[in-house]
Amino acid sequence: MIGLIIFLIFFNNVSLVNFGGLTMGTSYSVTISGNFSRSEIAPVKNKVAEALRRFDQELFSTYALNSELAQFNRMAVGEPLIVSPEQLEVLSLAQKIFIETDGAFDITVGPLVRLWGFGPEPRLKDFVPTSSEIGVSMERLGIENLVIDPSLSIISKTKNIELDVSGIAKGYAVDKISELLFDNGYENHFVEIGGELKMRGYKAGEVSWAPALETPVSSKSEVYAVLDSLGHTIAVAGSGDYRNFFEKNGIRYSHEIDPRNGRPVSHGLAAVYVINEMASVADALATAYLVMGLEAATEHANASNIASYFISHDKAENKFYQTHTSQFEEYLLN
Ligand code: ADP
Ligand code: MG
Repeated sequence: MIGLIIFLIFFNNVSLVNFGGLTMGTSYSVTISGNFSRSEIAPVKNKVAEALRRFDQELFSTYALNSELAQFNRMAVGEPLIVSPEQLEVLSLAQKIFIETDGAFDITVGPLVRLWGFGPEPRLKDFVPTSSEIGVSMERLGIENLVIDPSLSIISKTKNIELDVSGIAKGYAVDKISELLFDNGYENHFVEIGGELKMRGYKAGEVSWAPALETPVSSKSEVYAVLDSLGHTIAVAGSGDYRNFFEKNGIRYSHEIDPRNGRPVSHGLAAVYVINEMASVADALATAYLVMGLEAATEHANASNIASYFISHDKAENKFYQTHTSQFEEYLLN
């Protein structure tokens, strides 16, 4: 979820070209550094728009009825579907991250996401499912029921699973757009889709990109910490409980679902940020870490050398506090 504010300070001697639009149920923004005119940039701008349209409408959307994913979700057990190389890549990576996170990141959460009102159908106001409804949806979990045959580009299912790649697709798209910009000669750039970021090179000269992490509250937009990309090619992805949620009887239900109990996460961890070379990995891990909670996530991040930053809610004091792994340290400004 969004949680990153982009700092674009336009110095007099800095040339930045920015363009953007809507995709994947959110917005995107691309900033290119260098002395390029708008007309020079026009072809790459169109390529970016077309790539994102395809990723969203044809591949990963659970809203677009004809996306590969939506088709797969309607298919019967055992029926084969030929999919794009990108779909194979995302699903394989999701399988890998499922294993690495002990099931905290699980793209078969589709039925649960819909049950809790965070799917394509409009939510019934304040609807909280019963334990037995949750149980019925949980019966449909299990990434082991997704069969991927990369040699034939075919996927199929061994149970009536339903996939939702919202926790990884934006990050994946960010990686692809960054690659596209680089391949078109725009080495120094900053890409953002719905708060998942990737930056490469410099904003100008030796000035690196400096995104800010947002305070995890829905009511206002406020900077919590500022990062420095150091000129590295890095992605920053965040997950939080404060943007996409509903509240009933004082309980907050967020769109991050714990696949182990079928319920929205409910602990003191308000936001997680992960820095990684790959935005897809950062995106999925941020989701997984929010599900795991502070203790388990910190342990996992330390054990696997993942640069992570956690903002927790101290409910007694009614304030936030942060902790981070040592790998995150070098990117923290100040
Ligand atoms: P956002 O989509 O707001 O940027 P995330 O990247 O954290 O936030 O993805 C959250 C989305 O991922 C949810 O809206 C839901 O569709 C899906 N999701 C929820 N829980 C999980 C989970 N445990 N594993 C994988 N995907 C999940
Ligand atoms: Mg995510």
